[in-house]
Amino acid sequence: MENIRVRFAPSPTGALHIGGIRTALYNYLLAKKFGGTFILRIEDTDQTRFVPGAEAYIIESLRWAGIVPVEGPGFGGEYGPYRQSDRKAIYLDYAMQLIESGQGYYAFDTPEELDAARSADENFKYDSKTRLSLKNSLSLNPEEVTRRLAAGEAYVIRLKVPENETVLIQDLVRGEVSFQSNELDDKVMLKGDGMPTYHLANVLDDRLMKITHVIRGEEWLPSTAHHVLLYRAFGWEAEMPRFAHLPLILKPNGQGKLSKRDGSRLGIPVFPISWVSETPEDSFVGFREFGFDPHAMVNFMAFMGWNPGTEQEIFSMDELAAAFSVEKIGKSGARFDFDKAKWFNQQYIMASSNEELAQTIRPLIEAQGHQPTEAFLCSFAGMMKERVVLFPDFWTNGAYFFEDFTVFDEATIRKKWKTDGSRAIFTPLVDQLDQLTDYNAGAVQACVEAFTSVAGLKFGDVLPILRVGLTGTMKGPAVFDMMALLGKAECRRRLERAFDLFDKVY
Ligand code: GLU
Repeated sequence: MENIRVRFAPSPTGALHIGGIRTALYNYLLAKKFGGTFILRIEDTDQTRFVPGAEAYIIESLRWAGIVPVEGPGFGGEYGPYRQSDRKAIYLDYAMQLIESGQGYYAFDTPEELDAARSADENFKYDSKTRLSLKNSLSLNPEEVTRRLAAGEAYVIRLKVPENETVLIQDLVRGEVSFQSNELDDKVMLKGDGMPTYHLANVLDDRLMKITHVIRGEEWLPSTAHHVLLYRAFGWEAEMPRFAHLPLILKPNGQGKLSKRDGSRLGIPVFPISWVSETPEDSFVGFREFGFDPHAMVNFMAFMGWNPGTEQEIFSMDELAAAFSVEKIGKSGARFDFDKAKWFNQQYIMASSNEELAQTIRPLIEAQGHQPTEAFLCSFAGMMKERVVLFPDFWTNGAYFFEDFTVFDEATIRKKWKTDGSRAIFTPLVDQLDQLTDYNAGAVQACVEAFTSVAGLKFGDVLPILRVGLTGTMKGPAVFDMMALLGKAECRRRLERAFDLFDKVY
């Protein structure tokens, strides 16, 4: 197998949509599977769309997801620079080669002239049919061209798309895709500001960085025709990278493409990490801030457009890489199923060690003003991990481990507590528990059982009182485990407080 080199080539125009993370992931998996190299290239040639902070956001997202480049800005590598704005001189050289070989030409048309052409004909295209009636080095005489260039007139360099050619692409996902060159316009390669367009820079960099596979979103498929023509123009067609165009990611209801606005509209994350902008409409909450484990997000994303062809759903990154193949990527759009994302997260949380979970949730608990010991937090995590879906649920569903409940299950209390007698019945239990020297779950249970039978009660009359008394709710981990973790003094304090509250329910 050749040395696989793949790249993720985002433009730093804002937050990276989840589709971008999937593209990065598939590239990464292919490289990892074959011991190849995953490269990050920042495509920032469109200065008008540049957004400060976007590159840092992209890198932080990739790091969080564990999709870490081997080469890229800040990562090193022998094929840099990896930011296109730092490669300007390279593109100019190659654009001149296009002119010299007659496959590119100077075009002097002003934006106003092009606008006028478009308003005269809404289907106007700068192409083999129209180019001779426009202002360029093919239509003007050579002296005129030389004069304009010497006078420093603004120009762009366009690709001279050949007539009557068929462009065939053997796409690894879509199979054979063909385009007729007569349908293609003479795309701008080098802009008036001396910057290349996406097309020129992308093809040259793929070539110069020895990219073997281009895996990218389906929206780039039409551009690929021009890219093939460029490879042809430079004489590199036989060594082109192989292309794989990924299916669209669809809205949760399957109707149309998932957009960044769908996230805010549906209250779900469609970005890996939060993006904070000046306006709330342009700020987005990420998977990370929603409370996802990055492995769960990756596992979920991997299945959006690919599947291993087996029943297995939980895959580590290494297992994904081993199972991954471009041939198993689907052609049809992949629905963004947020319930499935949550299901993955739940599986990951349940499978995590208490220590790992404690580390992740500590900031969430500390943000609520509590500083639990490591041992307490680990036990808490262990008791709660089957009862949560997202990380913040640890607090939402388990705040009572750290502080007094403020609301409690009144319906249960109304059923199980009598203001004219329950207190007298249950106070001895509190005292008996207080006698225990080793306050472990087994001892607590034995004590409660002994109390229940001596008092002639049923377990179903005692446990709800303890549970609601200690936590406020009927939901939660095993009562005796919780009691052991809270400790004797705390349980006593809580129960006495609760009995006062219960006496006020009627
Ligand atoms: N800069 C393009 C983007 O923003 C890259 C497309 C490609 O991978 O060729 O997605």
